Amino acid sequence: MSKRTAFLLGLAIAAAWASATSAETIDTPRNIILFIGDGMGVSHVTAAKIVEGELNLERFNTMGLLTTHSQNAFVTDSAAAGTALATGLKTNNGAISVSPGGEPLKTALEYAEENGKTTGLVVSCSVTHATPAAFAAHVDNRGNQDIIAEHIAASGVDVLFGGGRAYFAPKSARRSNRSDEKNLLLDLEKRMDVIRSRRKFKRLGDVASVAGLFAAEHPPQAEKRKPKLPELTRKAVEILSKNKDGFFLMVEGSQIDWGGHNNDQDYIVSETIDFDEAVGVGLDFAEADGRTLVIVTSDHETGGFALHDGSVKEKKVTASGFTSKGHTAAMVPIFAYGPGSAAFGGIGDNTRVGQLTIQYLSQSN
Ligand code: MG
Ligand code: ZN
Repeated sequence: MSKRTAFLLGLAIAAAWASATSAETIDTPRNIILFIGDGMGVSHVTAAKIVEGELNLERFNTMGLLTTHSQNAFVTDSAAAGTALATGLKTNNGAISVSPGGEPLKTALEYAEENGKTTGLVVSCSVTHATPAAFAAHVDNRGNQDIIAEHIAASGVDVLFGGGRAYFAPKSARRSNRSDEKNLLLDLEKRMDVIRSRRKFKRLGDVASVAGLFAAEHPPQAEKRKPKLPELTRKAVEILSKNKDGFFLMVEGSQIDWGGHNNDQDYIVSETIDFDEAVGVGLDFAEADGRTLVIVTSDHETGGFALHDGSVKEKKVTASGFTSKGHTAAMVPIFAYGPGSAAFGGIGDNTRVGQLTIQYLSQSN
């Protein structure tokens, strides 16, 4: 190839790239809501659909599957998978948004904050657990939840809903999981409302930022949980969407995974339905707003769950089985709606979620 041909070819490639880029820019969402069903495989969704009849997940047209292996393991844990979803990079099991060498990896939530967006984490476990931690903390061991609490308290997160109050309370407090006298609740109170009951949640006024820590450790199962994931999601969207520059919100159905670990079908179904109702809240907002990307996925499958018999008509699963008390390597489903959603269709790797959300959050304004 002559130098001139090479130059012209280069120009053509540059032009094609520029037009692709501008097309993508038009399709860039202002807001992103990322829903993570921890441990939610295809059978978990199927069981919930059979019992519920129709799911909000059926409102999506773009769907795909994601591989979930971690940097050092065939079967991932929630820390490494959360890191992939939050940063777009693989790491070792147990690591929270740090590389296998221990360097911090910037998360989608941090990119969003840098770009003037409001941010939120809404979960049905302790906010210091692996999945939410992967968005706002950087530690090489997911077990260091007292340090994770410090990172979360020092982060710019505007809405924080879940459990885990004991990781923020000083050692001398009645319920504390800390080994020092740091009072992170006071640190949070300096920049946001801090509440701990559904009563206070119901009375929340027109706040700009809030931390609702509704349990010392983990909130109870869906039937007893107050507030439930859908109402927390609604409030989070209401608060975060006041920002004209947009928001990033991660909502986790944390306990679907625990139903899988317990090999408890009813637990899986009730948690998946609670999660699906939260997804419905996000979709309602996105449909009305038109500039919001909604992504729903999972970090891994839990239980090797399979359905063997039941009745669609009677809305029940009568025979099911589990191959494991732990996680499996099965691909997990991903659903996407709104601007930028098409890129999530087909088969990909879980790092795609972090990579694309970071690309969108860095571009939009
Ligand atoms: Mg989790
Ligand atoms: Zn698990």
